[in-house]
Amino acid sequence: MLGEIDAQTTKWSFTMRTNQMPRESRAMTRFEVLVIAGVIALLTMVVLPGVANTSNRYGRLACLNNLRQIGVAFHSWGNDRGDFVPLRTPMKDGGLGKNSSGGLLNPRAGSAWFDFAYMSNQLGAPNILICPSDTAKAPNQCSTWRDLFVRQNAAVSYFVCCEAFPNKPQAILAGDRNLQSDALGNCDVGISGIWQANANSGSRSGWTNIMHFPMGNLLLNDGQVAETSTDTMHWYLGLTTFSGAVHCVMP
Ligand SMILES: [Zn+2]
Ligand SMILES: [Zn+2]
Repeated sequence: MLGEIDAQTTKWSFTMRTNQMPRESRAMTRFEVLVIAGVIALLTMVVLPGVANTSNRYGRLACLNNLRQIGVAFHSWGNDRGDFVPLRTPMKDGGLGKNSSGGLLNPRAGSAWFDFAYMSNQLGAPNILICPSDTAKAPNQCSTWRDLFVRQNAAVSYFVCCEAFPNKPQAILAGDRNLQSDALGNCDVGISGIWQANANSGSRSGWTNIMHFPMGNLLLNDGQVAETSTDTMHWYLGLTTFSGAVHCVMP
């Protein structure tokens, strides 16, 4: 009896072992796959945001640098024109705007690419008109102004503000295009149906989630650049307007 039990036990144990071996190795393989998948998931979580943050940081800084250079160009252009932007400078003084008797405005003034191209001598290269974080526009980089005249707004990331008066140093002069408006409105520079924000607490204008989510970069009248949240952007809208409304020529 004992011998039989021993033999059965042994046989059973042996059978279990031989049956278990492949099962164990299959289970180990599955476990290893799970571990590897876990490690990959962990690396993705740790490394990818770092890469994204680095590129976001690069985009923000390069964008601020573009706007700083654009500010220098505006001031260089406006230097002997009372520091008014082309939109606010009458045509008789070499600007794009209406003359004192009204009515005259360059028909292309309502398109941001033309407002920038008008200052091509001061801007230098047109590639500073694209924000590196603007993935829709980035492939359209222009190395020459001839290219910009072909691609037009497809190669421009920045708006030009119509209410940048020289006596308001903190007024918005230009900025990232990812701004939603309250409505379209008519500006006294002579452009109808353009981006409009109301500089009050009820304004729904704000940065959209493309480019520098959830922020946007502004160039101010005095040449300073600012990385802003929607709330801070509203504050600058208040410093820009004289009538409650702010208009921007969008690319
Ligand atoms: Zn930008
Ligand atoms: Zn206006």
